[in-house]
Amino acid sequence: MFNKRIKVRELLTREPYHEEVTVMGWVRSFRNNQFIALNDGSTNSNLQIVAELGRFDDALLKRITISASLKVTGTIIPSLGKGQKMELKADTITILGDSDAERYPLQPKKHSLEFLREIAHLRFRTNTFGAVFRVRHSLAFAIHRFFNEKGFVYLHTPVITASDAEGAGEMFRVTTLPPLNPPLTKEGAVDYKEDFFGRATNLTVSGQLEGELGATALGEIYTFGPTFRAENSNTPRHLAEFWMIEPEMAFCDLEDNMNLAEEFIKYIIRYAMEHNREDLAFLAQRLADEEKQLPQEKRSELGLLEKLDFVLRNDFERVTYTQAIDILLQSPAYKKKKFQYEVKWGIDMQSEHERYLVEKHFKKPVIVTDYPQEIKAFYMRRNDDGKTVAAMDILAPGIGEIVGGSQREERLDMLLQRMEEMHVPAEELWWYLDTRRFGTVPHAGFGLGFERMVQFVTGMSNIRDTIAFPRTPGSAEF
Ligand code: ATP
Ligand code: MN
Repeated sequence: MFNKRIKVRELLTREPYHEEVTVMGWVRSFRNNQFIALNDGSTNSNLQIVAELGRFDDALLKRITISASLKVTGTIIPSLGKGQKMELKADTITILGDSDAERYPLQPKKHSLEFLREIAHLRFRTNTFGAVFRVRHSLAFAIHRFFNEKGFVYLHTPVITASDAEGAGEMFRVTTLPPLNPPLTKEGAVDYKEDFFGRATNLTVSGQLEGELGATALGEIYTFGPTFRAENSNTPRHLAEFWMIEPEMAFCDLEDNMNLAEEFIKYIIRYAMEHNREDLAFLAQRLADEEKQLPQEKRSELGLLEKLDFVLRNDFERVTYTQAIDILLQSPAYKKKKFQYEVKWGIDMQSEHERYLVEKHFKKPVIVTDYPQEIKAFYMRRNDDGKTVAAMDILAPGIGEIVGGSQREERLDMLLQRMEEMHVPAEELWWYLDTRRFGTVPHAGFGLGFERMVQFVTGMSNIRDTIAFPRTPGSAEF
């Protein structure tokens, strides 16, 4: 009977009153042929198990190696040693699975994050990744809870689509046609009419367009699913496969949209801080140790927990794109020619510009609104100035863009005009345009990149360390 086991997380909340319990987990270390540190994944804390000398066969003790899996039954007693309040005095120890310590790649020492990525199948067994994935879980749970409390409907938008929602990034083609000698059209192009869906299809880059269809009937929806971008961005904040949360609200303008996004981000951070205190404290210490390697000026002013707390206690700064460009042009960094990329009205801000605004100028999350229409997608609502659109990006310290959103263009004539200007084929999006034909309403929404949010909360500097099995250019092991 496996379900008689008690999880270590639960056990540690109890008082050590000589209760008999069964625990199961993996050996982290075995000292003096007597003390086993057992971890079962429920918490970063190991349970100390005492195998009294002389009580167990040598043959059994030899098999208690690093990462072997054990079932241990015994009595919980107050610990004599320091560092833990209780320990388990073992009565029986059963080896569930042996582990060849010679071949096991994780040793009880510090491994680099790069090395751990190469053994991503085992990195869950480290303190760092145990903490990261428990925090990731909490954030995901909090997201559903937030929207559920607000009466949003969780909409599952398709993973395979025939539309390119944004022209946002390169797409992954989905096809069952043979790679060699595919059927061709008269003109010699691949004939996707012969393909599985009778047309060319791709993995989705965003669920937004379908989300708008849901919102303009259900009122308020959100999606939370995988999205795919074949962009060749080898950066610490881009994945080829990432998870996105996309709320979409009818009867909502840009300001409502910003308010919701800010409330949402604070809610999920607060949830993680309340439910993952131990893991976040561990990650904060990890980050502080990592930053000790850096020169003073590159270190963060605030520790991880102080940073999160600061975000909770302060309003996000709100500036227009035009104001943001002015700030950059007035900045010492600009005057000293510290920016690699050009700064002038109309640019798509580069990461160095975003980071300057957030980390140097405002020192807190910033919502930038009203971007030039040329650098934004066709569906964003045109402002009365005729130059800008009702867009908003949220920039976070250390990460850059974490949210991209907008009020959507609900006026059919304006939308059609913009699509034509941007060469977006209106015939293919007939279904999208129908929302504007039959009872159109002001509506708005945004997309939050989940892994960037996990980065922000855990302090992991590379996005590859926030998802179990990262997909990046040239890498899809596991
Ligand atoms: P960026 O300029 O950073 O590439 P984007 O403008 O392409 O972002 P959007 O298309 O607005 O981003 O997507 C919404 C959100 O999804 C972004 O704010 C970001 O949090 C996240 N995101 C976008 N691309 C990626 C990616 N390749 N990997 C991880 N998250 C991403
Ligand atoms: Mn991008």
